[in-house]
Amino acid sequence: MKTYKTEIYPTQEQIIKLNQTIDVCRFLYNQFISYNKEVYEKEGKFVSGLDFDKYVNNELSVQEGFKWIKKAYGKARKKSIMNAENAFKRFFKELSKFPRFKKKRNQDVSFYAPRNNKGDLLIERHRIKVPFLGWVRLKEKGYLPVKQQAKNITITQKAGRYYISAFLDCDFPYSNNQQKSEGIGIDLGIKEFAFASNGHSFRNINKTPRVRKFEKKLKREQGSLSRKYEFYKKKGGKSAAKERRNLNKNILRVQKLYQRLLTIREAYRQHVVSMMVKTKPSFITTEKLNVKGMMKNRHLAKSVANQGFYDFKQRLLHSCKKFGIELREVDTFYPSSKLCSCCGHKKVNLSLSDRIYKCDNCKVELNRDHNASLNLKQATKYVVLT
Ligand SMILES: [Zn+2]
Repeated sequence: MKTYKTEIYPTQEQIIKLNQTIDVCRFLYNQFISYNKEVYEKEGKFVSGLDFDKYVNNELSVQEGFKWIKKAYGKARKKSIMNAENAFKRFFKELSKFPRFKKKRNQDVSFYAPRNNKGDLLIERHRIKVPFLGWVRLKEKGYLPVKQQAKNITITQKAGRYYISAFLDCDFPYSNNQQKSEGIGIDLGIKEFAFASNGHSFRNINKTPRVRKFEKKLKREQGSLSRKYEFYKKKGGKSAAKERRNLNKNILRVQKLYQRLLTIREAYRQHVVSMMVKTKPSFITTEKLNVKGMMKNRHLAKSVANQGFYDFKQRLLHSCKKFGIELREVDTFYPSSKLCSCCGHKKVNLSLSDRIYKCDNCKVELNRDHNASLNLKQATKYVVLT
C-alpha cells in the first residue's frame, strides 16, 4: 500500500460539491457524537456507526430542514460516521480522550471516495476520475502513477487549496539486494539542519531569506488579525457584514502564509531524506532526539520546533523501509560530539561554541558536526528501527 498526496485544481462546480460534502461530513461526525451522548445518558447504550447511518438515511435526511444532507456524496457521509465510531472505539480502549467535535476552522474533515465501479479512480497523466465529481485536474502532471486505479482517495482543503491523497496497492520496484555503499551517520542540529558523515551538510532552511520573508509577512498578518479581533470585541454586538468579510479575508491570508511555510519546510525535509537515501547506504545512524529536553530551553524552543526533527525522522524511517536500508538509532547518552572520531579520545571540556573539534590526543581538527556524524556512523550500540 502506498499513498500519494498532490494538489488538485477542481472546477468551480466541483468545489461547490466538495465543500457541500465536507460540510455534511463534519455535521454528521459531530451529530454522531452528540446523538450517542444523548442515547447513553437516557438508555446507557451505544449506537453503532451502521445503525446511525441507517437512521440518517431513513429518518433524519427526509425531515424538512435536513434535506441538504442528501446533497453530499453518500460514501463520504458513511465514512465520516465510521470515523466518528472509530474515535469512540479508541476512547473505549482508553487509547484516546473522549471524541471531540470537529470545527470548521480546523479544516480536518475530508472528502472520501472508494473505488466502487469499474473506471473509478482511474489515473491519467493530468487528471483522476473521482466518483461524484467526475474528472478532476491534477496540478503536477504524471506525479500519480498513470493508468493505475487507486483503492480509495481523500480530498482535503487547506487554506483555499485542495489536495488529494490516493491510496494504491502496488509492489515497489526496488529490491533489497542492490549494490550498497557504506553506512552514514547523520548529526541533526540547529545551526545546520543536518551533517552527514560523508561530508554532506544541509543548511537550516529557516535562516534563508525566503523563509524569513514569509515569516515576517505572517507575523504582520497575524498582528493585523488580532487587532481586528480586539477592535470588534471592544465595539461589542454584532459586526457588520463588511467587517466580517475583511476579517475572513485576513484569516485566509494568515492560513495561506502558514501553509506556505509548512510546505516549504516539509519539502526541504523530504529533500534531505532523499539526498541521504539516494547514495544507497547500507545503514543510516541517527541520534535519538531529546526534543522535550530541547524544548525546555526557551531560547531554542522555537527553532527546534521549526526544524521539525520528528517529522524528518518519520520520513527517514519511511524511506529506509522502502529502500531496505537499516536505520539505526543511538541513545541520547552516547557522547557523539565529545568523542574523537579518529582515535576515540573523549574530550570533557567541549563547549557549545566550539565549532571546530580539536583532539588533544591525536591532534586531528574537524568540523564539530562532521566529527559527531562520524561518531554516529561508528557507533556499535544502537537500536535498529527498520
Ligand atoms: Zn583523536
